[in-house]
Amino acid sequence: MTRTPLPDLSREVVPGQPVMLAQGELQMRPRRRGKPPQHFVDMSADERKEALKELGMPAFRAKQLARHYYSHYTVDPEAMTDLPAAERENLANRFFPQLVTPVKTQLADGGKTVKTLWRLFDGASVESVLMRYPGRVTLCISSQAGCGMNCPFCATGQMGLKRNMSVAEIMEQVRIANLMLANGEVAGGPGRVNNIVFMGMGEPLANYRAVASACKLLNAPQPDGFGMSARHITVSTVGLAPAIRKLMEEDIPVTLAVSLHAPDDELRNELVPINTRFRVDEVVTAAHDYFLKTGRRVSIEYALIRDINDHAWRGDLLGQVLVAKGGAHWVHVNPIPLNPVPGSKWTASDPEVEQAFVEAVRAHGVSTTIRDTRGSDIDGACGQLAATIEEDDNHRQDRDARVARVEAIAGDGKDS
Ligand code: SAH
Repeated sequence: MTRTPLPDLSREVVPGQPVMLAQGELQMRPRRRGKPPQHFVDMSADERKEALKELGMPAFRAKQLARHYYSHYTVDPEAMTDLPAAERENLANRFFPQLVTPVKTQLADGGKTVKTLWRLFDGASVESVLMRYPGRVTLCISSQAGCGMNCPFCATGQMGLKRNMSVAEIMEQVRIANLMLANGEVAGGPGRVNNIVFMGMGEPLANYRAVASACKLLNAPQPDGFGMSARHITVSTVGLAPAIRKLMEEDIPVTLAVSLHAPDDELRNELVPINTRFRVDEVVTAAHDYFLKTGRRVSIEYALIRDINDHAWRGDLLGQVLVAKGGAHWVHVNPIPLNPVPGSKWTASDPEVEQAFVEAVRAHGVSTTIRDTRGSDIDGACGQLAATIEEDDNHRQDRDARVARVEAIAGDGKDS
């Protein structure tokens, strides 16, 4: 195989506007700490019982509250008509503090794509995107405010990590989406969230504890959780191999998506800097083991960046690397045209190059589908929306990319 030398990987940030992390630098720990107020979702059965006792209320209220939250998606005391009127307000105040506040909502696709910017209790911002397709609803959620993985082509990556989100903050994105759908507030009539993808802001497996708990609660039958099928929950990761293994050990059989973006360590070290710790082989091995354990086909995400990682030989190498690990059928490759971030010279590949890349992967028998972006008429993106308010326009647009990832993973026709 002929290897061309590494392409020019310099980042062209907006002149005069510093990026928070130096090239290749990783940030595993949040800059800001501080916990959101304690919320019902974050409490154990014992903690709920204790809190009820302190309020002088019977323990069985916990079950009623769980039904309001997980089955009716409500935290509104007015709606809790099975509770004594005198207790409702106190209960709601104690157990359902407002953790996420909508700051801005944007609609696209005739109202069937809804992007919401949320302000958290400490002023941090995150985003979620609801996408309605015929017969199903996919919600793209955030797991961290910002991200410490510092992938140079990703807008959120330029922000650095502000902090991890709590389980309740993660779940609130889902609850509120379900409430809006139940109330018929989303174009297309009443409905509920069918698919969750952890493709909003953050690296979900860097916030392992909270994300694992959230996955369990998404999956638990109502009213202990939202009762979603685990295979309709997709966790997308840069490839934190030990955390992938932990997911396996804890039997959380969600769908796994791995953001590979390069089949060789040399380039991946640059595009996904955590690769300097968990190399391509280690990540692909963990992904394959995940498939063996769960029987769930793993998605490989690959943003095609013109002249950076889109060479046919890299497509060929990608096919080789995957097939060498376990044949062609344990994995599905989802290349996505790069959604360029303003100020960067990196852009999407030419269509012929894209096609040649896809053919090179397919030549190994690995199923490969490119998806186009959706909702590109909206100027505000996951990452960009939060950035607009918190970080000015130093931080770039990657929402379309996310939307497309979501389509690629969740819209594969294999679910619902
Ligand atoms: N931290 C997780 C979730 C990130 S968002 C992860 O890395 O998997 C989901 C996907 O969008 C990831 O595959 C990410 O690499 C990709 N992405 C980010 N910015 C992009 C861009 N500008 N163009 C195309 N894909 C992008």
